[in-house]
Amino acid sequence: MKYDFLVVGAGFSGATIAERLASGGKRVLVMDRRRHIAGNSHDAYDPTSDILTHTYGPHYFRTNSERVRSYLSRFTKWHPVEYQILSFTDGRYWQFPINLNTFEQFLGRASSSEEMSAWLEEKRIPIAEPANSEEVILSQVGWELYEKFFKGYTLKQWKRYPQDLDASVCGRIPIRTNRDNRYLSEKFQELPIGGYTRLVDSMLAHPNIQVLLNADFRELREQVEYGHLIYTGMIDEYFGYCFGKLPYRSLRFERETHSVEYYQPAMQVNYPNEQDFTRIVEIKHATGQRSPLTTIVKEYPEDFGEGKEPYYPIPAPESKRLYDQYEGLAQRESGVTFLGRLATYRYYNMDQVVAAALLASDRLLEEGGRMKLES
Ligand code: FAD
Ligand code: UDP
Repeated sequence: MKYDFLVVGAGFSGATIAERLASGGKRVLVMDRRRHIAGNSHDAYDPTSDILTHTYGPHYFRTNSERVRSYLSRFTKWHPVEYQILSFTDGRYWQFPINLNTFEQFLGRASSSEEMSAWLEEKRIPIAEPANSEEVILSQVGWELYEKFFKGYTLKQWKRYPQDLDASVCGRIPIRTNRDNRYLSEKFQELPIGGYTRLVDSMLAHPNIQVLLNADFRELREQVEYGHLIYTGMIDEYFGYCFGKLPYRSLRFERETHSVEYYQPAMQVNYPNEQDFTRIVEIKHATGQRSPLTTIVKEYPEDFGEGKEPYYPIPAPESKRLYDQYEGLAQRESGVTFLGRLATYRYYNMDQVVAAALLASDRLLEEGGRMKLES
């Protein structure tokens, strides 16, 4: 069988482009080396508790894009969520991200937005254009809150100091002077009812799509006949590491099931300082699943290497320079489209990879249509 497109990777990038191309009349083969679809967004019912649990760390869907939301809504209904997170340090829970409630905890008394703004104005380090993650936080809250909530967490998560990471890393976290306790600021904050795996399964359930799991492109590339390749794996691996290996950060997840309705007071608790793990996630708070049992996941950052998954590209100037070399090769590679977190080496969220895949499929279908007209 000859396919019009071979899509490597059955995560959100691969599933979106496969679905769009299949709906445009193309025959598509999707392969993934894992034993399941949905990539890092995979979720499944834990066998000990029957609690729907995110396999590779918490995935909080959020977007400002009407296009992405309405596209995904063809395959799922949504359950609105206000993602709430606490930070635990110095023996107590703190409201996080930093807002007026955190400030009141810090002062030990009631306060106001005006008082908090004036305090921040006094503490913040005036930096017009923050160039790294240390500067982006210092320029908003100053040293004390930076050291309490950001420095230790970031060092643990990335094994580098915030000053050695792009401003966008810590810059993702909002700092507020009101009482908005939500972790995220996007317009749509929801989880797919039934979970991500079910959502991706509906995307791939098109008669023009065939899915092959447990299938590594490196081993099968010569055995499949296809017109165009969509590649969502690691870009350095694709090019045989010819410029050297790109750095990634990996994680170890430790799961525990407890015979209590809830283990902790919020969906996620961050541990910036005293513990080896960065966070404990109890996703049941967000999914709303009712059960007398609960499953929690502790997340330990680890080096990436043999047998480890490349969860995070590292947003820093020297890795960008190395990626740029690979991107140069990618631009000259004909018949291949590189998409997603790993192939474009970007710290993308799910909605961002879906948006990029929608744009790429528009372009590929348009080019295909033009070539048909010309021939
Ligand atoms: P992936 O999901 O990584 O899929 C790529 C697939 O390609 C993988 O399944 C892999 O097995 C396969 N593959 C690679 N190489 C090959 C090969 N040679 N042959 C066959 N298959 C191959 N995003 C959010 O929006 N909200 C969140 O809260 C959030 N939290 C996150 C938490 C963690 C711990 C992590 C790691 C990520 C988080 N993300 C979150 C980001 C989200 O996971 C990604 O944006 C999204 O999964 C990227 O989709 P993708 O398809 O590009 O890549
Ligand atoms: N961060 C931090 N303290 C926290 C939470 C986040 O210093 O309590 C920093 C850390 O560098 C982290 C980044 O902000 O990697 C982005 O945090 P987010 O929770 O968005 O991380 P993700 O869910 O992508 O792992």
